[in-house]
Amino acid sequence: MNDHTKILLDEDEMPTHWYNIVPDLPAPPPPALHPGTHQPIGPDDLAPLFPMELIMQEVSQESYIEIPEEVRNIYRSWRPSPLYRARRLEQALGTPARIYYKYEGVSPAGSHKPNTAVPQAYYNAKQGVKKLTTETGAGQWGSALAFACALFDMECEVWQVRASYDAKPYRRSLMEVWGATVHPSPSPLTASGRAILEADPDSTGSLGIAISEAVEMAVADPDAKYALGSVLNHVLMHQTIIGEEALLQMKKAGETPDVLVGCTGGGSNFGGLSFPFIREKMAGNMSPEIRAVEPAACPSLTKGIYAYDFGDTAGMAPLVKMHTLGHDFVPDPIHAGGLRYHGMAPLVSHLYELGLMTATAIHQTECFAAAIQFARTEGILPAPEPTHAIAECIREANACKESGEEKVILMALCGHGHFDLASYDAYLSGELEDYDYPEEKVLAAQERIPVIA
Ligand SMILES: *Cc1c(COP(=O)(O)O)cnc(C)c1O
Repeated sequence: MNDHTKILLDEDEMPTHWYNIVPDLPAPPPPALHPGTHQPIGPDDLAPLFPMELIMQEVSQESYIEIPEEVRNIYRSWRPSPLYRARRLEQALGTPARIYYKYEGVSPAGSHKPNTAVPQAYYNAKQGVKKLTTETGAGQWGSALAFACALFDMECEVWQVRASYDAKPYRRSLMEVWGATVHPSPSPLTASGRAILEADPDSTGSLGIAISEAVEMAVADPDAKYALGSVLNHVLMHQTIIGEEALLQMKKAGETPDVLVGCTGGGSNFGGLSFPFIREKMAGNMSPEIRAVEPAACPSLTKGIYAYDFGDTAGMAPLVKMHTLGHDFVPDPIHAGGLRYHGMAPLVSHLYELGLMTATAIHQTECFAAAIQFARTEGILPAPEPTHAIAECIREANACKESGEEKVILMALCGHGHFDLASYDAYLSGELEDYDYPEEKVLAAQERIPVIA
């Protein structure tokens, strides 16, 4: 043990490789299937959507992939990111647990998303792609990709979920500052958007719908490709820079974690922190419990079905085996917009099935209460998404207080909440509601999931 509060790495200690967990797993993850033929997809099927280097990373069997020099140079403007010991929070809780958090809010976009936006823009630019299309829920992914496209002189066109487009105008401004064009989704610009609007002109949208729109536009334009901010193998792999750094930082602090906690929307910040630790666990070097935390209103891991489902609402994206609430799921309007996705990363879903991790779901009022306690002790204002990790961390620290156990908790604090103050306002004025995910909805969704022979 030592007296660190902030554990930093030098620039030249930044890891040089991303970690691909796939070859180390006891069983291979089920393959992605073509949405039309239901046959396993090959690289050619994905070529209209992604550049070849990202497709090869998506199906790679290499354990380590070198981070290109140009990407590392950009990473260095905010990486390595700091690891903090939450001393004042520990004191306020009166817990014997030692709490650490890896903070990704130091990136230009304020979250972990640029860790994958930058390499995605880089590989596309290298292949001569002129424009990237994407969706965004809370606006964090859209702003990260807008930032990355600006660095590589590419156009960026974003479909922002209507609910968030209306509620978070400054995220849109940020995307526009970085040069992106932003449309509310559903939009009249695409066939999938028009179909939704015909059925419901007041649709507040969903990530699944916005993905359909962005995919449709990319496929129709030979100079454009599509970028996804979570869920896919290559995205989770790019995020492992977080965990690789955290391993070095925990070592510097002289600590071995007993529990890792991260929030899960599509699974990328959670996978990014945890996969390198799971590697160490599988190698017998440590034995932390790895715990995902999701919103009670959008509980894909804890209540979803493990089945092949579409990644988008219109059924254009590949079929992947994942924990899903159904591809046409429209979530309740909880404030953690980045966690309102119907599915979970196939890799995280697979790890969950293999028993390599656990999951829990928490209501948003408990999460915001935890965030307020965190802000008042640690000073950082968390994004609504990682408030779920904070709430679970506080539950664990309180359990340690009961039992007297001195556990070491490591948490992913994946972004700041400077654009989310309207959500904090709602909490502070007592307007925040909790939503449960009813059992009928689970059953109804199951009926609409495609049947795979
Ligand atoms: C996008 C986002 C999430 C949800 O996505 P994951 O892929 O699960 O990480 C969570 N937190 C923040 C701050 C985000 O920007």
